[in-house]
Amino acid sequence: MDRRSISLVGAVLVACACGSSQPSDARSPATATATMESDAPFTEQADFQGRLHSTIQAALDYWGGTWDDLRGVKIVFTDSPTVSCDGREALGCYDGEIRLTTRDPSLGTLSCVEQTVLVHEIGHAIIGDPDHNDPRWMEMDSLAEELSGRIGYTTDGEVPCLIYLSVWRHPIGSP
Ligand SMILES: [Zn+2]
Repeated sequence: MDRRSISLVGAVLVACACGSSQPSDARSPATATATMESDAPFTEQADFQGRLHSTIQAALDYWGGTWDDLRGVKIVFTDSPTVSCDGREALGCYDGEIRLTTRDPSLGTLSCVEQTVLVHEIGHAIIGDPDHNDPRWMEMDSLAEELSGRIGYTTDGEVPCLIYLSVWRHPIGSP
């Protein structure tokens, strides 16, 4: 399996990527890094970096965070059906690093980044709340609407990128 990494630069810098010279007075950009330990076709598409960026942006907007909050955060996509999280197995985890499966045990290999639990784990990165007491864990319809209607990818070709709210949500107050 190949192992690829891409750097994700915050929205401000991207919006300003309009010249070749480095602004001398700029602070270092807020940067998260994504690493693929996954052969899911969506991770190999030309649109992946842009989709990853826009999904994170939508999640940041939803949870009230900024790219600054993700400075130095590593996001690891894995083919393993679960990741270890505080001694338990889960679809995703945030413990300073975000780890996500691209192979949901019930759905199979996911066809797009929007289907992963990334927006949920961004939530933990922004608000913490490991016990899921915030009502927003169950109110993700607007976020789903924003990220729906995109293309998914399988080894056989393109499919709709369907979003399953049940994957993102978490019943309030349950571990
Ligand atoms: Zn959670």
